[in-house]
Amino acid sequence: MSGFVIQPPEVVGLSVAGSDARYPVRRIYCIGRNYAAHAVEMGHDPDREPPFFFQKNANNLDQSGEFPYPPHTSDVHHEIEMAVMLKSGGTNIHVAQALDHVFGYALSLDMTRRDLQGEQKKMGRPWEIGKAFERSAPVGPIHRVADVGHLDKGRVELKINGEVRQQGDLDQMIWKVPEMIAYLSEYFELAAGDVILSGTPAGVGPVSRGDAMELAIDGLGSMTVRVV
Ligand code: MN
Repeated sequence: MSGFVIQPPEVVGLSVAGSDARYPVRRIYCIGRNYAAHAVEMGHDPDREPPFFFQKNANNLDQSGEFPYPPHTSDVHHEIEMAVMLKSGGTNIHVAQALDHVFGYALSLDMTRRDLQGEQKKMGRPWEIGKAFERSAPVGPIHRVADVGHLDKGRVELKINGEVRQQGDLDQMIWKVPEMIAYLSEYFELAAGDVILSGTPAGVGPVSRGDAMELAIDGLGSMTVRVV
């Protein structure tokens, strides 16, 4: 720990399919209401308004296959999302070049304390308490672009205990992956290690301890996360 006054925090590293090396995480940006049917179910207009983002913390990502039910809530919702991992970044990235910065894609969940998020929304306060809690972003292994290409269409599906709850298609995103990267890069400096959660299709709902959440996106396989 030379040069630091306390032990530096660990770099969060995610597993990569077909590799022993891990992907180091810097920041996580999450887009809100990026599928029209989900915007409607949350009580909003599905029209294409400017996108908005919130952040989770790098160490909210979790690959253990278990999601511990968090404290101070009785309404935790599942949101299946495709995660986009960047290998480079910059500012004012053009839409046409945006995909050049993508390292890979992964299955992920934006787990949400919906009751707490709702209270914050009502008071016009930030969403962190509803969104950025411990292990709030279960994530699968990263599939490299070199192996799976770029994913802009394909089934997105989440089952709970074998029953389909969320269903959609990547081509239903209101803001496509290159557009999200370009937009974010106008407001922030993007960099290698940045992760974007690309929004969830309709059908979000509560989970209970013991539930098995089964995620699948065409091209990324499937994974199961158990609520404990
Ligand atoms: Mn979300």
